[in-house]
Amino acid sequence: MTLEVRGADFSPPGSAIIRRMQALLTDPATPHSTHVGNVAEPATGGDSVLVRPLEVGVCGTDREISEGLFGVPPDGEDALVLGHELLGVVERDGRGFARGDLVTATVRRSCGHCEACAAGAPDACLTGDYLERGITRLHGFAGELVAESPDHLVPVPRSLGRLGVLAEPASICERGLRHVRAVGARQPWGPRRALVIGSGAIGMLATYLLRMDGLEVWTAGRSGGGEKAQLVEACGARPVATSDTPLSALADDVAGFDVVIEAAGDAQVMLDTVGLLRRNGVACLLGIDGRPREVSIDGRVLGVDAILKNRALFGSVNANRVDWSAAVEHLDQARARWPEALERFVGLRVPLDSFADAFGYRGVKATLELG
Ligand code: BGC
Repeated sequence: MTLEVRGADFSPPGSAIIRRMQALLTDPATPHSTHVGNVAEPATGGDSVLVRPLEVGVCGTDREISEGLFGVPPDGEDALVLGHELLGVVERDGRGFARGDLVTATVRRSCGHCEACAAGAPDACLTGDYLERGITRLHGFAGELVAESPDHLVPVPRSLGRLGVLAEPASICERGLRHVRAVGARQPWGPRRALVIGSGAIGMLATYLLRMDGLEVWTAGRSGGGEKAQLVEACGARPVATSDTPLSALADDVAGFDVVIEAAGDAQVMLDTVGLLRRNGVACLLGIDGRPREVSIDGRVLGVDAILKNRALFGSVNANRVDWSAAVEHLDQARARWPEALERFVGLRVPLDSFADAFGYRGVKATLELG
């Protein structure tokens, strides 16, 4: 299959020689069309910084796009360059960056016509007309070179090194937790116990961030033992196997949770979180579940408990620049505190043409290694 990638992002204007590079391409309208192909190198100059991707993380959204369930190519094009979890190195000095600097880049870009985007918060875009690199109408980072505006680049401390590839999922957790604190703090609140449901990258990173905040944390996965349970224990959190322990029984045991993070992507579990909260508790939904089905709840949990116990449930997507800064800072602190564990988060690194292995990986995080 041949997919042509055209457009400003990848065609240097006025350049006689168009150099080509390898990139991970997909046609979001055609399920399972993902392949490594050749595209024009990005235009240099202007106000952009040229970045050489070192690693690009893979997540459930990439899998969904690849299965034809999500994603939009840039206007007028058929193919989308995948990849929104970037760790890269700056190619040349300029625009406030020096050759060799490690960087990551934000994903979502302004819709250009709403108050939230105008205020620098496209994560709270009011129109839904935003663009997202590697997801919606903008090419992603899984290629040999990327040109990016300095406004969207986030410096990665050298001490964090390759673990900077975790900045994007960590930024999602940072936003969720920032909002948990904001919602919780609307009334007197001293959160002590948290439950994280799901032990993929988002669940694991949320676990570590909550531990760094000093909370007691339980992290639930479907089965017990294994690498994920060990990683949960490594930061002093407690693994829970939902196959043995129903979450409602766990909540009863500890008299409810102050914070619940749903990162398993199961709409029934999301609704059930209302019943797992303590008085004044806050539940944050980060997983996505697009399956068309009905989910149910005992009417009294919603109609009585949620009200009489001042509980709140909300969803959160994407991340603000402040969350990206917090993500790299906290990841570096977590690395200093639990160095061996953090290194084990990325359990698989493969070259671009072995992308199928990364897509099939079921550990915490797999990445595509480009440099
Ligand atoms: C990404 C977010 C993005 C969301 C919806 C997630 O996988 O991490 O940056 O906003 O998908 O497109």
